[in-house]
Amino acid sequence: MIRTHEPTRKLARRLEDGTARILSATVSRRAQRWFVSFTVEVDRAEPARHARPGTAAGVDLGVKALLTAVDDTGAVITIPGPRPLKAGLRRLRRAARAHARKKPGSAGRRKAAARLARQHARIANLRADALHKATTILAARYETIVAEDLNVAGMTRNRRLARALSDQGFGTARRMLAYKTAWRGGRLVLADRWYPSTKTCSACGTVKAKLALAERIYRCDACGLVLDRDVNAARNLLSLAASGAERRNAGGGTVRPRAARHDPPNPEPGNPHGGKTGTAARQQAAAA
Ligand SMILES: [Zn+2]
Repeated sequence: MIRTHEPTRKLARRLEDGTARILSATVSRRAQRWFVSFTVEVDRAEPARHARPGTAAGVDLGVKALLTAVDDTGAVITIPGPRPLKAGLRRLRRAARAHARKKPGSAGRRKAAARLARQHARIANLRADALHKATTILAARYETIVAEDLNVAGMTRNRRLARALSDQGFGTARRMLAYKTAWRGGRLVLADRWYPSTKTCSACGTVKAKLALAERIYRCDACGLVLDRDVNAARNLLSLAASGAERRNAGGGTVRPRAARHDPPNPEPGNPHGGKTGTAARQQAAAA
């Protein structure tokens, strides 16, 4: 009998009614916590078309906000970072400083390292949880979601802790959006990694040479647009949803949105439930 921190009721119900099978279980220990993760095969009826066909949203994965989205009606959706995440980041910075002060090889250093690892794991969990909630809502509401591809240039330039952590989150968010849109009959489109979504004016298409990370407001010198930086970026990403075809930005460069639709794997031969798809989902539960 194991007491779990996260609810396993949904999984238990699926196992009972035969719509899920556990393929394997892995027990691991991370930062002094035990985790058990199950690889589960789930029969999931994926719709051929999204419930809200034609809807689209551009999603900017942020540093300040968790994400900012603009949809095809012009509505702006801002999902702030969860409050415990901010407090966690403060604790993490403190733990990192304490760790740096300790003498290498000392017992105090080892203890500080363990504390730092615990804070890292806690924050990763908080962020993943918040991202799960946000991406579930987006995938349900919009058939097409456009996000940025991994920003390699931005990642190597900025070594700040909060930024590094949110960069990890970007990859997680993209993965979640990819499979959640596929489950709903939608799709995730990734903008070309060189597409300047933050530097481009969403009104006139002029591309700024530079936009510092500290500049939270986008001001266009060409047309006078004044707009929140993340909303501007999300609007640019949304514009890529209109067609899967090639688009040209103001600089004349070609931007090819790349469809990241994850086609479900073929149904297994001899599947007694005749499920249309067999998507492997992972459920992670921390043993208390
Ligand atoms: Zn402009």
